[in-house]
Amino acid sequence: MTTFETSLQWHNRAQRIIPGGVSSPVRAFQSVGGTPRYFVKGEGSKIWDVDGNEYVDLVGSWGPMIVGHAHPHVVSRVKSAMEKSSSFGAPGPGEVLLAEEIAARVPACERVRFVSSGTEAVMTAVRLARAATGRNLIVKFAGCYHGHSDSLLVQSGSGIATLGLPNSPGVTQGQTQDTIVVPFNDVEAMNRLFAERGSEIAAVITEATPANMGVVPPSPGFNKFLSDITKKNGALFILDEVMTGFRISHGGWWGKFGLEEAWTPDLFTFGKVIGGGMPLAAVGGSASVMELLAPSGSVYQAGTLSGNPVATTAGLATLELCDSELYLSLDSRAREVGSAISNALTAADVEHSFQQAGNLFSFFFTSQNVSNFDDAKKQDTSAFAVFFHSLLEQGISVPPSAFEAWFVSGALTDDDVDKIAKAASVAAQQVK
Ligand code: PLP
Repeated sequence: MTTFETSLQWHNRAQRIIPGGVSSPVRAFQSVGGTPRYFVKGEGSKIWDVDGNEYVDLVGSWGPMIVGHAHPHVVSRVKSAMEKSSSFGAPGPGEVLLAEEIAARVPACERVRFVSSGTEAVMTAVRLARAATGRNLIVKFAGCYHGHSDSLLVQSGSGIATLGLPNSPGVTQGQTQDTIVVPFNDVEAMNRLFAERGSEIAAVITEATPANMGVVPPSPGFNKFLSDITKKNGALFILDEVMTGFRISHGGWWGKFGLEEAWTPDLFTFGKVIGGGMPLAAVGGSASVMELLAPSGSVYQAGTLSGNPVATTAGLATLELCDSELYLSLDSRAREVGSAISNALTAADVEHSFQQAGNLFSFFFTSQNVSNFDDAKKQDTSAFAVFFHSLLEQGISVPPSAFEAWFVSGALTDDDVDKIAKAASVAAQQVK
């Protein structure tokens, strides 16, 4: 039995000063129960908590740590950037270099603007879409997460394509009345919606592959369908690649699937990997839409730390390590880790659906394949909680929620994979 006494002490102390003890809700272990671990060190594929317990990390800060923790290349570049000042609030070469790198990898991004979080990137994309089209309605999919801005913090009502209802106290009906929520992968609902209100729709936004309700791949042709229907109706297509951007491939989700399937979004949002673990995100897209941003246009967006020199350096240094070899290794690690866990669950007769999209994967504790949020909600979350705690106890850190993606890094070793497989066998027996 590992001890986590010091984490508990920190958590008690944190709860007296930080609401719930955390800076982002999922970290509080709300849906799995128990004490969140307080981490103080990471190196490669491992992280250590304040009690000195070591874990193989399959969270990776929810995506950014694609090359592992404290990679020497990233650390040395960040150190030298810090020594030259952490912020100027003025233009610098770092943001230009990173924007050029993004555009080189994703040619449909003719312009790139930096912000500090994925939430801001999406907010900006939505504002741009409304300005570009002169329309108000935004269509999103149930179970897709696009950050915590008011107009996207919505849940669906009871119909097939419903007006959004505020998903949090403090968000008004007024702020969500122009957001329509549709079940993911539902072509028929989208056709019906566009037939009825197509001329009012400014944009459709989707996660490139949903991974915030667990991993739910788009059914074949769904993203192309979204691109086509928006184009036909004079609306914009916003591809949220905050999670998938530069994780799925050299050019993100679109670089792998969009090019191949011949569809192109009007706007992209990026985050996570492009900041290499620092607060950085971006919106990108066609020059005609992006040039509407102030000061070339009049759509307002700004930020004291936007394009921060240390963050852009961390992002560039990380992307320098994201070559085709890394992506091959991520794909094969995801396959190895995912199938080892799925095999352990199968051997213990635990009903589950192992779902993968590129190198992102997750496990739903249900026998059904999950293709939308309603399916995802049918899973046995208490079985997941048992599995989670057993893995954690055995030194494997995975997302503390049944509705999140699991992340591999390029730093995972064969020993790590063996350790994960053994731990999963024990954990699966405990779920049974
Ligand atoms: N969009 C997607 C697809 C995300 O996964 C997230 C965060 O997980 C966001 C937007 C919001 O990004 P941030 O947490 O940086 O605000």
